[in-house]
Amino acid sequence: MINYLYIHLPFCIKKCIYCDFLSVPYDNLFARRYVEALEREFFLRKEITGKLKSVYIGGGTPTVLSAESFARLFASLRESFEFYPDAEITVEANPGTIDEDKIQILLSLGVNRLSVGVQSFVDKELLTLGRTHSSDEALRAVDIVKKSGVKNFSIDLIYAIPGQTPESWEYTISRALEFSPEHISTYELTPEHGTPLHEALKEKKLMMPGEEIIVEMYSYTIDTLTGAGYRHYEISNFAKEGLECIHNLNYWNRGEYIGIGAGAHSFWSDKRIKNTGDIKKYIELLNYNQLPIDESIEISCEDALKEIIFLGLRKTEGINMRSIKEELGVKLHEAAKDLLKEGLIEIDGSYLRLARKGLVLSNEIIVRLFEKLGI
Ligand code: SF4
Repeated sequence: MINYLYIHLPFCIKKCIYCDFLSVPYDNLFARRYVEALEREFFLRKEITGKLKSVYIGGGTPTVLSAESFARLFASLRESFEFYPDAEITVEANPGTIDEDKIQILLSLGVNRLSVGVQSFVDKELLTLGRTHSSDEALRAVDIVKKSGVKNFSIDLIYAIPGQTPESWEYTISRALEFSPEHISTYELTPEHGTPLHEALKEKKLMMPGEEIIVEMYSYTIDTLTGAGYRHYEISNFAKEGLECIHNLNYWNRGEYIGIGAGAHSFWSDKRIKNTGDIKKYIELLNYNQLPIDESIEISCEDALKEIIFLGLRKTEGINMRSIKEELGVKLHEAAKDLLKEGLIEIDGSYLRLARKGLVLSNEIIVRLFEKLGI
């Protein structure tokens, strides 16, 4: 039985220039029809879902939804699924779409973790990213969340923004730390193909900061956040002791999960399954009580090994080499000998992890390990 549930809400006020997530402009009526479709998918999925340890509502911007839609969504969630009393229930919240009332309603519905998409506390950078909120709105949003009494909240930030400097990144980090959030995520901006950011870089309308500056920003992040008492538990994630995001840890541990909603991914019984990304089709299929599956891929042993390495190296705990040897007969430490000599990885008991020097070279290290293993 599967204990982790993701729900995708694909609505935003406006598309950010770097975004390649599934999201469309918010429309109240369309969103209501979408929530009805989600309810139908809950019903169709409940057979394979066990008692829930975590529910993560992501997007999009889930908090564009009205309080009534959230109330309906949660009523239906609780009707379809059982929850552990201490289940982690996260909602992603964006500045400009939350106020005290909405947050209180979310908490009354059982939400106990909020992940606030701040990205930067510098107006110029927010404008470059095409975010709809200002730095003042971001500060107000985090203040509301902090004062709401929520048990656990995270601030999401982005570095390597065109025009960003190490000083402006230090400023953003320091403003985030003033709120003492339980969790901070810091993502390096990646220009994905097909996004306006990618185009703007190609046409030289924008320029990414140089590689050295990006490494400097990342190193600063690790030093400052660990110095402030946060545990660096995943390449991009930091948490106060015991407040790591259990939902995301399940992904990195290659645990099973169900994804509900348009474009959502699921993983169970050694299959990676993807729902249709066509939101209208998603609603239509569920109107006929049909599962909205677009793709279902069986994971081979080789794929599983790749996933274990790729996901496991994201965690600072690393990969358990003993279990890989027992389950797949693969001797990872032999494949990693050269990387160890170069100081890019560390071995601690049966765990293999990226060394500090290797954290910024994770993609290259993964490719080298795959080559050594012949996969
Ligand atoms: S708010 Fe998030 S999901 Fe929405 S457009 Fe921006 S990056 Fe994409």
